[in-house]
Amino acid sequence: MSTAIWWIRRDVRLFDNPALHHALATADHIIPLFIWDETLLAQPTMSAKRTAFLAAGLQALDEALRQRGSYLVMRHGRPIAELHRLLSETGAQHIIAQADYSPYAHQRDAAIAAQLPLTLTAGVTIRPPTAVTKEDSTPYTVFTPYKKRWLGQTLPRTADLYPAPEHIPTPAGLSSAPAPTTMPPIALFPAGETEGRRRLHTFAHGDGIRHYANQRDQMAAEGTAALSPYLRFGMVSAREAAVLALEVIARDKTELGRNGAETWLNELIWREFYVQILHHFPHVHRHSFRPEYDAIQWRNNPDEFTAWCAGQTSYPVVDAALRQLNSTGWMHNRARMITASFLVKDLLIDWRWGEQYFMQQLLDGDPAANNGGWQWAAGTGTDAAPYFRIFNPTSQAEKFDTHGRYIRRWVPELAAVPDSYLYEPWQMPPLIQRRAGCVIGRDYPTPLINHKLAREQTLMAYKAVKAR
Ligand code: FAD
Repeated sequence: MSTAIWWIRRDVRLFDNPALHHALATADHIIPLFIWDETLLAQPTMSAKRTAFLAAGLQALDEALRQRGSYLVMRHGRPIAELHRLLSETGAQHIIAQADYSPYAHQRDAAIAAQLPLTLTAGVTIRPPTAVTKEDSTPYTVFTPYKKRWLGQTLPRTADLYPAPEHIPTPAGLSSAPAPTTMPPIALFPAGETEGRRRLHTFAHGDGIRHYANQRDQMAAEGTAALSPYLRFGMVSAREAAVLALEVIARDKTELGRNGAETWLNELIWREFYVQILHHFPHVHRHSFRPEYDAIQWRNNPDEFTAWCAGQTSYPVVDAALRQLNSTGWMHNRARMITASFLVKDLLIDWRWGEQYFMQQLLDGDPAANNGGWQWAAGTGTDAAPYFRIFNPTSQAEKFDTHGRYIRRWVPELAAVPDSYLYEPWQMPPLIQRRAGCVIGRDYPTPLINHKLAREQTLMAYKAVKAR
């Protein structure tokens, strides 16, 4: 009788799980194991919100496993020590896990594989990061040719997806530690595979995907899949998401529908792109992809950073976005671009400060996508916005929160401000401020900076490093 430990990391699901599938094909008994890694829990990028989401997702997984004759074993500590312990407790011969691609994951897994029988499978992404390279096997650093190559390879089909196993034989009596004590999970994002797949199927079989291309930038509309926390922890399979998008592309008779699905698939490919960037260029984890930008003279004013984090900058769209993040653990993509640009290019604060704050707050906080998004906004990354493209927070809000619904929802003190002043409330005459119940400096902050002047200062700081 052989036994395999299915070491769960970012694959908190049963459907289309390559590591679980491989484990079942390898051994007679499977031990589903999750280790609360003390190193990860102590990192500054740790997030109480994300930990709560993960703990609830693991609880849901345990329930699903119990319906299949199995159960989840949880341990706390250093993964290598816990794996050693469980191997000697159970006599298991194999450890099977889904490969992960952050610098920390690479080091951890290499150290474990040097001592223990660890096998890694694909699954975090649809295509492993080494699968899509240029003719000469070097990695892509520009998205469009990467995407072209990605789409040119054999596309995933429904038949490729592994069904959830009906029965998982697991040895009885293994002890399991409780999850760390967390804050209550955020109601807007119920954790677990059932919810993740429900969202995916509702989006892909309903109107969501079909209207995606023209809805996705409107911050008040629920125009995106809101699936990122589930993809982050593998509570839904990225491959299944791509298969559903490809089905819409193949079958939908309308241009609107096909365009929506193609645009959405494009976003899934951005996710893959950033994973392969982090895999091939691990220095991006702490440094600019383009080293010259590490020399930028940031202003790094701590009070301005605190105001940004709290959503108290006086720029309504920035404040709305940060407050959405702080209260829900999620932020609309357009809002992420606006707030990141504001932090880096208006406040001239090091993008790594913002990257870390996002990691502390986001349910979907992911080292690859978050780093890619921040370096894009800062203009320091691979396929980044050029350094001189600086988002204007007023015109971005006018365009992507046309009726001010997003701002009014998250910044209630502006609820009664007339549309004509909503995007720059400091322009309101005193009488209108009083009528709107929003006196600037009392109910809502005075401007932290002047966008026009800040823009000039940033351009100088960037030009200085470009000129070297
Ligand atoms: P949809 O629009 O429905 O897209 C579907 C999926 O595609 C998403 O769930 C996500 O997995 C992927 N995706 C979409 N856009 C991107 C993108 N630009 N880059 C990579 N993947 C993408 N995404 C994260 O998953 N984790 C992060 O930590 C993260 N940090 C970001 C930081 C900044 C500064 C920026 C600009 C973007 C960041 N993104 C991050 C990308 C994007 O904002 C989110 O993936 C998206 O908002 C999630 O919402 P959704 O599930 O409704 O996405």
